[in-house]
Amino acid sequence: MNFVETRGNDGIKPVEATFSHAILNPSASFGGLYVPKELPKLEENFIQNHVDKSYKELAFDILKAFEIDIDDDEINKALALYDNFDDASNPCPVVRVKDDLFVHEQYHGPTRAFKDMALQPFGSILSSIAKKRDEHYLILAATSGDTGPAALNTFKNKENIQVACLYPDGGTSDVQRLQMVCEDGDNLKVLGIHGNFDDAQSALKNLLASQSFKDELERDGIKLSAANSVNFGRIIFQIIYHFWSYIQLHKQEEITFGEKIYLVVPSGNFGNVLGGFYAQEMGLPIEKLLVASNENDILTQWINTGVYDIRDKELKLTKSPAMDILKSSNIERVIYSLYGPKRTKEFFDDLNEKKIFTMTQKETEELKKYFSAINSDDAYGAKVIKNFLDDGYLMDPHTATCLKAYEELKEKDLKTVIYSTAEWTKFSPTVLNALHENSTSYVDKEALEIISKEYNATLPSSIKELFSAKINHDSVINKENIEEEIVKFIKG
Ligand SMILES: *Cc1c(COP(=O)(O)O)cnc(C)c1O
Repeated sequence: MNFVETRGNDGIKPVEATFSHAILNPSASFGGLYVPKELPKLEENFIQNHVDKSYKELAFDILKAFEIDIDDDEINKALALYDNFDDASNPCPVVRVKDDLFVHEQYHGPTRAFKDMALQPFGSILSSIAKKRDEHYLILAATSGDTGPAALNTFKNKENIQVACLYPDGGTSDVQRLQMVCEDGDNLKVLGIHGNFDDAQSALKNLLASQSFKDELERDGIKLSAANSVNFGRIIFQIIYHFWSYIQLHKQEEITFGEKIYLVVPSGNFGNVLGGFYAQEMGLPIEKLLVASNENDILTQWINTGVYDIRDKELKLTKSPAMDILKSSNIERVIYSLYGPKRTKEFFDDLNEKKIFTMTQKETEELKKYFSAINSDDAYGAKVIKNFLDDGYLMDPHTATCLKAYEELKEKDLKTVIYSTAEWTKFSPTVLNALHENSTSYVDKEALEIISKEYNATLPSSIKELFSAKINHDSVINKENIEEEIVKFIKG
């Protein structure tokens, strides 16, 4: 199947692209994104036929439905990485926490957050295509905490790929920082930046725009690609697990075939919930996708009013930092699906020029057929964490934002799956503050130890080992020196 561009074609880039092209060169004409030309419709009994299949078999069949230009043995090699999750047969378990409420745990991979679900197989696929084409790629990443560790982990020692990862020094949790600076692999460079996440991200944008930098890369025969969720190579793996949610509920005899369910997704860049939207379009019986946000309420505002307005908005730093966002990239793919490329280009031109776009009432009604949205604050999240622990379930602050949607947005009495995007171990000081109802400032190591002791919670060895691991990347630099450092790195 071929891929097309969300904002139409500029006459220079190809009008249609293969999957390989779309993931190696993720930026499309006019700053748009690649999307499948049409979504595959699965056979009528697809879900029934997969009830007794493994996650890898389900994933394989969904990838094949997209007719991607990747050989079967490369697909299988990529999917085999799910064997490294806690339970190879069930990489993302769906567990019941209350009568009609289930948690889909997406954090059982190597870096303990949902990014592994897609980045693990994606890293393998990207490297295999680059190798096949005999091309070399540099992946640049700026991270606020979860993407960096997951990208470094998946690309370490992969052929034909180098990764340079920028993080704000002091702006991530200790666990997240250690996951990055302790990662080894000759093809990885991790740089702390003096400044906050915005500084790291804008430094990366400057680098992408720098002619001297591009010249250097070209001289060494290196191309640039991206590993964030603008890359469809991540999105395709984020469709699969929504089918898994449904199949798991069926296996647990909670639903009958065809019965609809709600999915609640804690959202930032909208990649996770976009996977749910695509799954629904492919035939998964979803009543509605409920979008949870934190105090950065731009997604709630957009879905409820049809207006995306960031003119007077400032990014707020919250206890669910992976959802702190103003510009959410993947809403563009939904907009393209519902209103086509011409409208998509109009909206995003408006957003770039005026920091606002406005949909018609009719367009907004269409959007609301698929999505409902609500946001909550850190104090609400802390109460949720405490209440659930009282019932024996430990959750992270991102997962906690889902409960507001569960309580307030459901219109029908249907089973609901909330997505747990990180393990509590990645945000242990916030979790401990919630459990102890205090605001003491803890370091991660201390909070991890207290929680595991007091609440008998298991610490995965990958987290425990971080605190005695060798630090392989100790540079913290000024923004002005980033280009020089990365050029030094690619020159080996
Ligand atoms: C990335 C991330 C999110 C947001 O997911 P999007 O696909 O960007 O909407 C939520 N929670 C955690 C823990 C994450 O790492």
